[in-house]
Amino acid sequence: MSVEQAPVQRADFDQVMVPNYSPAAFIPVRGEGSRVWDQSGRELIDFAGGIAVNALGHCHPALVKALTEQANTLWHVSNVFTNEPALRLAHKLVDATFAERAFFCNSGAESNEAAFKLARRVAHDRFGPEKHEIIATVNSFHGRTLFTVSVGGQPKYSDGFGPKITGISHVPYNDLEALKAQISDKTCAVVIEPIQGESGVVPADKAYLEGARKLCDEHNALLIFDEVQTGVGRTGSLYAYQHYGVTPDILTSAKSLGGGFPIGAMLTTTDLAKHLAVGTHGTTYGGNPLACAVACAVLDVVNTPETLAGIKAKHERFKSRLEKIGQQSGLFTQVRGVGLLIGCVLSDAWKGKAKDILNAAEKEGVMVLQAGPDVVRFAPSLVVEDADIDEGLARFERAVAKLTQG
Ligand SMILES: *Cc1c(COP(=O)(O)O)cnc(C)c1O
Repeated sequence: MSVEQAPVQRADFDQVMVPNYSPAAFIPVRGEGSRVWDQSGRELIDFAGGIAVNALGHCHPALVKALTEQANTLWHVSNVFTNEPALRLAHKLVDATFAERAFFCNSGAESNEAAFKLARRVAHDRFGPEKHEIIATVNSFHGRTLFTVSVGGQPKYSDGFGPKITGISHVPYNDLEALKAQISDKTCAVVIEPIQGESGVVPADKAYLEGARKLCDEHNALLIFDEVQTGVGRTGSLYAYQHYGVTPDILTSAKSLGGGFPIGAMLTTTDLAKHLAVGTHGTTYGGNPLACAVACAVLDVVNTPETLAGIKAKHERFKSRLEKIGQQSGLFTQVRGVGLLIGCVLSDAWKGKAKDILNAAEKEGVMVLQAGPDVVRFAPSLVVEDADIDEGLARFERAVAKLTQG
């Protein structure tokens, strides 16, 4: 091994990091499949999946192989040159979806930034500057750049940073009448998460997405699906639009796409893509060979009938046990979500206490997430072993019992 590394602890975070996060008290140091070990050697089961990112768990052999082979071959060339992994990845995404063109970047926010810029550019080119309004939904989450927090429907993320991007309105989610009342010939795009992830794991109604599609067509507006959280198998379909049978004009993907290696993608049609002509948009790292090689390997494993069917079966395994835990403890009133994006809605007595449940779960050796203060979220590996589901939920049940009885 090389140079000795200086020891670091959780306390270092408060000394050297910008305080915009409040990480857990322990530091994970190693992972394998759906298990993680911390600095003290304690083992935890991971149902958080790095926030719906680790689609194949930790250190999946196919991803380690793709990454190390690429690491020994070519790391980065910029977009002054194209590269083989990026072209292979684009082919895979085009073959598997409605899309005919891909743009690669490094995160969900960047993929949405590209989507919103493309939508405005298309409307500008085709109809003129008046047509620039974007309709988003209340409580939506689209990332943390200034444009994406402005489009996102959560003022707590967009207030206090000076003037927001204008020409954006927010309508209640799953409310077709509200969308109908807001949409006009000035609307350039409607953006929807097929399942609202961060704000509580709220699935769209099929009729809502169908209605949004129709309204967009009637007003020459583009339909954008933010599939940063729902994409790449999370719902048991490769993308949630396929689960719903409603096709957007632009789709954004990130999180699970890289299985833990940062990458984002915006997918669209040839006809729309041509509006981002040479020089209109770009990124230095986007389409980086390392990221694209890993994403190719992710898609090769996820986009198979076996993996996708497995996700649906694992959903049932989670849901039935969680419903039982919820009923016995009185902790939740509903278990909702699709595939391996599952939200447990807290009962009135526990409203606002999702963080306490996370902490209790961690003490019993299982990592879970919250989705707002009132929902406990599960976003595990898409290939989590049944034995790990059972053991992790047994630990979760013990945590819930301690909380509700103690
Ligand atoms: C996580 C998320 C984003 C932001 O992705 P980043 O990689 O954090 O920029 C955008 N949209 C949705 C729906 C997300 O869940």
